[in-house]
Amino acid sequence: MTDLPLRDDLRGKSPYGAPQLDVPVRLNTNENSYSVPEPVADAIGKAVQAELRDLNRYPDRDAVALRADLAAYLGHGLGTAQVWAANGSNEVQQQLLQAFAGPGRTAMGFGPSYSMHPLLAAGTGTAWIGALRDPDFGLTPGAAVAYVEQHQPDVVFLCSPNNPTGTALDPSVIDAVLSASRGMVVVDEAYAEFARPGTPTALALLPAHKRLVVTRTMSKAFGFAGGRLGYLAAHPEVVDAVQLVRLPYHLSSLTQAAARAALAHRDALLVTVDAIKEQRDRIVATLRERGLRVADSDANFVLFEVGGDQRIAWQHMLDNGVLVRDVGLPAWLRVTAGTPSETDAFLAALEDK
Ligand code: PMP
Repeated sequence: MTDLPLRDDLRGKSPYGAPQLDVPVRLNTNENSYSVPEPVADAIGKAVQAELRDLNRYPDRDAVALRADLAAYLGHGLGTAQVWAANGSNEVQQQLLQAFAGPGRTAMGFGPSYSMHPLLAAGTGTAWIGALRDPDFGLTPGAAVAYVEQHQPDVVFLCSPNNPTGTALDPSVIDAVLSASRGMVVVDEAYAEFARPGTPTALALLPAHKRLVVTRTMSKAFGFAGGRLGYLAAHPEVVDAVQLVRLPYHLSSLTQAAARAALAHRDALLVTVDAIKEQRDRIVATLRERGLRVADSDANFVLFEVGGDQRIAWQHMLDNGVLVRDVGLPAWLRVTAGTPSETDAFLAALEDK
């Protein structure tokens, strides 16, 4: 690309992406290990089929029916005007940065956290401020407020449950950040459905805060990562704002139809959540029994300490047919909770280390 008139800030960069390797046990991208049940796949197929003759027409630009279905799923008194959808929550977050950040503005996050947040900032020309969580990966209201007051970012990302550490944030942190900031506060709840009982969602804070946005996805609990459907809930004016930057017809009629069919069968899809939580809790308990440090998890993955160079442990597990994630945290690795047999394979590969 050296000969191309590429943006200076993109020169020398590599595209983001976890390895997509063909190994027996893939536990590196927090997908849902359970494939779509046959009756649900049939229903999605019929819904998509019904759209095919109309593919000569553009889709509903505002995806109204899908947004109504998503609002009904979320509850909390939310309606269509408070929900927006796009091709994955990554695209939703990109649109938020396009609308509320961009050149001359800043976005902040508390690392270690989801690595796409700073990359989306870079792609939209937003300066990134990398604040830090506590050494035990927690985040207190006092520490968060100090960072926000010092930098006054235009957008603050809070991730709850946090990727890659797994733990949900106390709502007091979100409240404190909202009070201390003048910008938008985006709470990334990609893993909300996996939270341990009693874990509050930031959706409950929406009525009191116009600058709060909660992003969600169908990629994890719904097992719909390939369908690419993410969404947000916020004040209707936030939805109006992202519509200023979205591409017209960004959500294909096939995506809208497939997502609506999947939502209509949510009970059949979300049954996997309890099974996955069981495996997550089994991984946490087993690794702690083995004397490893493990972060508490409200998500479908577990961050654990390998006690040595994580790159060597990662390669060793890969050699044993188990792909986990090196998130770049020295001595720690992240594993997705999947099926019982995937947990067996992971625990065996790690023990054999
Ligand atoms: N947020 C977090 C915290 C994630 O871990 C992920 C997926 N890895 C996403 C958002 C993006 O998910 P999607 O674009 O598939 O909705």
